[in-house]
Amino acid sequence: METIGFIGLGRMGRPMAANLCRKGFHVAAFDINPAPIAEVAALGARAAASATEATKGSTVVITMLPDSAAVEQVIGGADGVLVHLAPGSIIIDMSTVDPLVTDRLAAAAAARGIGYVDAPVGRLASHADRGESLFMVGASPADFARIETLLQALGTTIHHCGRVGTGMRTKLVNNYLAIVSCQLNAEALTLAQRFGLSLEKTLDVIGGTTAVNGQIKIAWPSKVLRGDTVPGFTIDLAHKDLTLIVQAANAAKMPMALGAAAREAVSAARGRGYGAQDFSSMVDALCDLLDVPRPRLAEAAAGV
Ligand code: NAD
Repeated sequence: METIGFIGLGRMGRPMAANLCRKGFHVAAFDINPAPIAEVAALGARAAASATEATKGSTVVITMLPDSAAVEQVIGGADGVLVHLAPGSIIIDMSTVDPLVTDRLAAAAAARGIGYVDAPVGRLASHADRGESLFMVGASPADFARIETLLQALGTTIHHCGRVGTGMRTKLVNNYLAIVSCQLNAEALTLAQRFGLSLEKTLDVIGGTTAVNGQIKIAWPSKVLRGDTVPGFTIDLAHKDLTLIVQAANAAKMPMALGAAAREAVSAARGRGYGAQDFSSMVDALCDLLDVPRPRLAEAAAGV
């Protein structure tokens, strides 16, 4: 069985490392924040004092870090994973980052005889808690065969999108739709609030037409519309992803008119202090700005 170094134990990484421990994998866990290390150590992981300590002796290193800068530093830095991981091992980056960073790190890994897989994650943090994530994987056929069982311990749907880098690019396409939908929903439900419409009836109507989308159908009724703005996926991370998406698209000479506008709306919400809230709270940010009541389901308000 592989020995796994797990680096980055935030909202996503912590439950994933915990699920690997529960399923009998040998895990060495590290985060710059010590609190979640203790949590996964209580489930049997070895508490590593540094990323280097999590890397040495591992055959697979998983990174679940916030952004491109963190991934470049942890994997490709002067004292990074690539320096300490033995040839024949494999790195799986599950973070959402710039695909050009993925390409660069994969090339550096190949030069050292180390495999590199991009496996960003779809669905919500609550799915990661339950081991029901979706993975978009970029990997050589041999690397994919080697890590498939490991991914099955963390998720129910594993898509092999193609060679290294295709997972990350698929993730940007996915998050473009997911995040721009949030801004669209925020405007639509704020308009409904401004009109004084019944939230329940509005959801009922749009749920029966082509207007509905996954955010409003699946995510929002159990999050912001219930008054739960705990992330989940933060507005800060949504801003990071939309920035990556617009930049990557522009670099490919592809304009993203709606994406650029949505990114600025997300940016404004961050500027007004909503960055750490769940990204469904985009609707609260807009309602608060316009002094319109926040949309809340009546059953949630009644504490049902
Ligand atoms: P998070 O901010 O909760 O967790 C990131 C963790 O990385 C934190 O615990 C932080 O302390 C740690 N970290 C930062 N720099 C580090 C370093 N140099 N060394 C070690 N640890 C370091 O973020 P998250 O919500 O867990 O998201 C992680 C990634 O997954 C992001 O790229 C995000 O876009 C993506 N993602 C998130 C969700 C979601 O719903 N939260 C869903 C899919 C994908």
